[in-house]
Amino acid sequence: MAQIKSPKAQEFDTLIVGGGLSGLLSAHVLEATGRNVLLIESMETLGGSSRIGQTKAGPVDHGLKIFPATPETHAALDWLETIIDEKIERTEIEAAPVTYDDGKFKPYVGFGSATVETASEVEAYAVEKRLLLSSTPKDWVQKLAQTYTGALMTQSYATKFIVDDTFIIETLLNGTKRICAQEVVFAAPPQQLPALLGDGAIPARVRQKLHKGDFWTSVNLDIVHGHAVTDSQAVHVLKGANEEPTIGVFHAPQADGLQVSQWLTLIPRDQVDEEELVAGALKQIKRQVKRAYESAFDGLVQERILVVPGSHGSLVGQFDPAGRLPKIDNLWIVSALFSSHRNTVGAILETQRILGELGPAPVHETERQLGPHTVTAEA
Ligand SMILES: Cc1cc2nc3c(=O)[nH]c(=O)nc-3n(C[C@H](O)[C@H](O)[C@H](O)COP(=O)(O)OP(=O)(O)OC[C@H]3O[C@@H](n4cnc5c(N)ncnc54)[C@H](O)[C@@H]3O)c2cc1C
Repeated sequence: MAQIKSPKAQEFDTLIVGGGLSGLLSAHVLEATGRNVLLIESMETLGGSSRIGQTKAGPVDHGLKIFPATPETHAALDWLETIIDEKIERTEIEAAPVTYDDGKFKPYVGFGSATVETASEVEAYAVEKRLLLSSTPKDWVQKLAQTYTGALMTQSYATKFIVDDTFIIETLLNGTKRICAQEVVFAAPPQQLPALLGDGAIPARVRQKLHKGDFWTSVNLDIVHGHAVTDSQAVHVLKGANEEPTIGVFHAPQADGLQVSQWLTLIPRDQVDEEELVAGALKQIKRQVKRAYESAFDGLVQERILVVPGSHGSLVGQFDPAGRLPKIDNLWIVSALFSSHRNTVGAILETQRILGELGPAPVHETERQLGPHTVTAEA
C-alpha cells in the first residue's frame, strides 16, 4: 500500500464522506466491525436529504418520501431495522395515482405522446401501492446520529482527495485540514468525484460519465395548508402542457385542522441560470396544485422550499463493479444512483451491498502483535 506522506494528518481506518442516511448507516456498521471511523459532513447538522423538517404542523420529512410496497422496500427496511434496532411498522395503502386534466381528476396512466424528459424519474414515484411507516427517514437519521459514537466532524467539506498510485492517501477538508484513512466511503453525490480526485487520477471516460450523466436537481415544496384540502391518499402526478410533471402527496388531515402536502419537480442539473429555473419550478408547482385544488392556498400556514442538486438520475450499468472507480483501490461509493431501485430504498440497498463488500475491519500490524486496543480520535 502507498505510504502516508503528511506526518500532521489525523489517521483513521475509514473516512466516511457525507452524513446523510447512507453515510450514517455506513458509519454504524463499519464502527461495529471495530474500525476507527471518521464521519465528515459539510453541513452543521447530520441527515442530508433525510434530515428533519420542522413545520407549524409538526416535524415532517425533508421533502417528499414515497415507499413503494415492493419486496425490495421490505428487504431494505428489514435490514435497516437490524441497524437501528427498532421495528418499522408498515401499513400498505392502495390508491391508484391520479392526474388532473380538463377540470377533473383522472387515473394517471403515463404521459401518452407528450415528451416528458423526467418520465423515468417520475414513474418511480407514481405507484399504486405504497407503505406508510411507523418511523421515516427523519427518525432513522436522528437515531443513527444519536447513537453513533465514532469521530464526527460537521461543517467539514471534503475538498480534495490526494491520490498516490491507486490509493487515496489523504483527504483535504475545507481546503486545509488533512485526514488519512486506509479506506474512503463516499456517501455524497458521486458527481463531485471528478473535481475531488483531480486530473489524471481517473480515466477521461469515467470523468465524462460522472460529469455528463442524466442528472436532475429536485425542487421541493412542502405546504402546510390552513384547512383540510383532501383525504386522497393517491400519488398526484400534475402536469400542464409543455411542463415537466409535479409529483406530490397529501398527508392525512390533522386534528388541529392543518394538512401537510409535499411536492417535487425536477430541473436539469447544472443549468446556467439555475436560480431562475428554481423560481420557475416553484411557480409551476403552485400553479399545478392550485389548478387541481382551487382552495389549497386559502389561509396558507407555511411553505418550505428545498432544492437538492443532482438528487435524481441514474448511473446504473455505467460502472463495473458498481460503486467502484477504476484505478482507485480504496474508494467505495455509496449512492442510490447505482441502484435500479430509486431513492431511499435504492440508497439503503446500495449501502448494504457496499458494506458487504467492505467486510471486516482491516487488521493492523500493531494489533496482530499486541491484540485489540481502542483508538480515540480527536473530533
Ligand atoms: C427532496 C427529495 C425527495 C425524495 N423523495 C424520495 C421518495 O419519495 N422516496 C424515496 O424513496 N426517496 C426519496 N428521496 C431520496 C432519498 O432521500 C435519498 O436517496 C437518500 O436519502 C439519499 O441519502 P444519501 O445519504 O445517499 O444522500 P444525502 O441525503 O444527499 O446525503 C449526502 C450528505 O453528504 C453531504 N455532503 C455532500 N458533499 C459533501 C462533501 N464534499 N463533503 C462532506 N459532506 C458532503 C451533504 O451535506 C449530505 O448531508 C428523495 C430525496 C430528495 C432530496
